Amino acid sequence: RRMVLLTRHGKQAQIGPVLEAALACTVEVNEQFDTDRLGTFTREVARAGSQLEAARHKARLAIELGDCAFGLGSEGAFFTDPVSGLLPWNRELVVLVDAERGIEVCGVAHGPAWNSHRQTGDWNELLAFAEAAGFPEQQLVLRPLECAQAGLRKGIGDREALAAAFEWALGQSASATVLAEADLRAHCSPRRQQRIAEAATDLARRLSSTCPQCSSPGFWLCERLPGLPCAWCGEPTDLAVTDTHGCVRCAYREERAAAGPTEADPAHCRLCNP
Ligand SMILES: [Zn+2]
Ligand SMILES: [Zn+2]
Repeated sequence: RRMVLLTRHGKQAQIGPVLEAALACTVEVNEQFDTDRLGTFTREVARAGSQLEAARHKARLAIELGDCAFGLGSEGAFFTDPVSGLLPWNRELVVLVDAERGIEVCGVAHGPAWNSHRQTGDWNELLAFAEAAGFPEQQLVLRPLECAQAGLRKGIGDREALAAAFEWALGQSASATVLAEADLRAHCSPRRQQRIAEAATDLARRLSSTCPQCSSPGFWLCERLPGLPCAWCGEPTDLAVTDTHGCVRCAYREERAAAGPTEADPAHCRLCNP
């Protein structure tokens, strides 16, 4: 089976080998389409629609441009973590659209991110920031602080380029202040590359799980019901007791006991730990 991945940011290095090793497929790259037209992290182009819609859109374009029934699209997003809302967080999606079966399967990975920024006019402070960011493997974006029309320099990946960009941005800025950020494009960010590979692994697992009814790939957890009984008093807790797996193609669903313990830690019980 041939799959086509739409990317200009080298994502085939993270997605291709993972899918090819797990599934009987070859992953081809289509670079015809400038994916930056759909949105950039450097704020020149805002993304229209949700993260999933963007990934799906890329997968459909891959089907069209690659003349192939299987299209892959990948999209990342940065926000704050879902638990405390305080930590920078990165979620990566890798979507397969299967035009033959008319289905879509989405791999997900998420975890802490590093997307801090620094305003400075001082070279040594910039160097310290760069080091904390993981430079030069993690590349940087520099721009003059208050002069949007001056543009920006991105993909800065060595010290010479950093020095040149610093001089340039300093000269453009009325307050002699430079805004430095991590370049979050996939080919400039080892942390994102790692997470994209994890999302591809998740996609491969989902594609390897087939529906007992229609044998479509993508038979996966779609609903979790709370009610795992407390180990002390037996009252239902908010922890999952039943996992429902569902098919992405037909209506078949299957309820299974949730993976993990059969009784809840009383710490989760409203009666034992009010
Ligand atoms: Zn099915
Ligand atoms: Zn209890």
